[in-house]
Amino acid sequence: MGKPCALTIAEAHSKLKNKEITSVQLVQSCIDRIESIDDALNAVIYRNFKRALEQAKKIDAEGKFDHPLTGIPFLAKDNFCEKGIPSTGCSNVLRDKEYVPPFESTSTQRLKDAGAISLGKTNTDEFTMGASTETSCYGVTRNPWDTTRVAGGSSGGSAAGVGSDECIFAVGSDTGGSIRQPAGFCGCVGFRATYGRTSRFGVMSMASSLDSIGPICKTVEDTAIVMNTLAGLDPLDATTGDLPVPDYTKAISGDVKGLKIGIPKEYFIDGMDPEVESAVRSAATHLESMGAEIIDISLPHTDYAVATYYVITPSEVSSNMARYDGIRYGHTVQKADDLVDYYHQVRTEGFGDEVKRRIMIGTYALSAGYYDAYYRQAQKVRTLIIKDFEEAYKKVDIVLTPTYPTPAFTVGALDGDPIAMYLQDIFLVAQGLSGMPGITVPCGFCKNNLPIGLHLSGPHWSEELLLKVAHIYEKSTEWAEKRPNL
Ligand code: GLN
Repeated sequence: MGKPCALTIAEAHSKLKNKEITSVQLVQSCIDRIESIDDALNAVIYRNFKRALEQAKKIDAEGKFDHPLTGIPFLAKDNFCEKGIPSTGCSNVLRDKEYVPPFESTSTQRLKDAGAISLGKTNTDEFTMGASTETSCYGVTRNPWDTTRVAGGSSGGSAAGVGSDECIFAVGSDTGGSIRQPAGFCGCVGFRATYGRTSRFGVMSMASSLDSIGPICKTVEDTAIVMNTLAGLDPLDATTGDLPVPDYTKAISGDVKGLKIGIPKEYFIDGMDPEVESAVRSAATHLESMGAEIIDISLPHTDYAVATYYVITPSEVSSNMARYDGIRYGHTVQKADDLVDYYHQVRTEGFGDEVKRRIMIGTYALSAGYYDAYYRQAQKVRTLIIKDFEEAYKKVDIVLTPTYPTPAFTVGALDGDPIAMYLQDIFLVAQGLSGMPGITVPCGFCKNNLPIGLHLSGPHWSEELLLKVAHIYEKSTEWAEKRPNL
């Protein structure tokens, strides 16, 4: 048997149930893995090992492994608040005085109630603003497939952690791609649920009308297992939907015969990596050979998606970041002339450049004279983008695209050029703006052994269909079996 940390949730669960391993062994194996490789990756920025082992011991003593997550170790992105555990959003504004939340996010609570064990917190771009973890106050997370490259972002730590077997699964958040892009870069499955399918309570907000919580896993089956626990109405998050939660693990069987898959012409663009394009087109052909029908479609407002996203999200960011004022918690300064000077100093010292940039753009876009020209206009275009997808879903069941135009880029390649970095989000921001779900699964490797992600998106609440198609694709290809050499 390989190392327990390399197991999937489904495999680990069956071994725990059959008493072939203990939860302590499983947790210890992940701890050993983190201790031996994380200096090279910088995925885990807070280690909660003592508590994790205590928890595992308790679970072993009880010996009940009925729930598939009982005794399974996971990592949570550092924007999830865990009661009594430092949670910083990877920002100096909270790291400085080591913010320890007095409450627990609904998502981590639900996982813990099911018996899953938190191993610690993972690196993210500061308050999830970025696509490479380079804006984190803890420094960049490196890609397990090639440590000269980024793991992606903002959930780069969660993706690198899963991709390198530091944990069995992880959770992240996705505003405009932050689960799917890093999962794609690290050869994992990343799932952004429909807005309101999972609870945002206790997760530090970036853009409240887009943020969605979801799992990063080694397989689609594991993703379905975690979604069973994460999904559902939460009285603490008024935007969660009161729809019954199906058993997602039951939804993943069957075939793709007759499934209509749309390929939008706007998503195969100049400048995209030819190896990415060919892997994604082969994936479409593969699904076609299994009985799906491939249909060319158009999403005519695609060109405006990035610009729209980068007006709306900074606007919401500028409002959400207002709470970090150094009064009740977080970074403080000792000397100030008056209250305004106090805020100024706290926020100047506490926030990094990218967060400041977005606060400034957002404040500008929302200000009285510019609101109509920018924010309102962007909201109108957002509606057009949503309509593009609604029209498309009258003709097709799902939309197939690349996850990202390139494989993981080199550390520093786009740092310092925010516009270049923003433009690369082109394939992912529409789900954020529309609140629709999307999943990335590995669909190949570049010649230099970097994973390539296939992205499948569907209409609101199409979680079951997306998981099913992704699972069928994954099971009929060998990509998920490949692991990095670390
Ligand atoms: N890269 C995108 C951004 O910088 C996505 C971030 C996210 O989804 N949290 O905004």
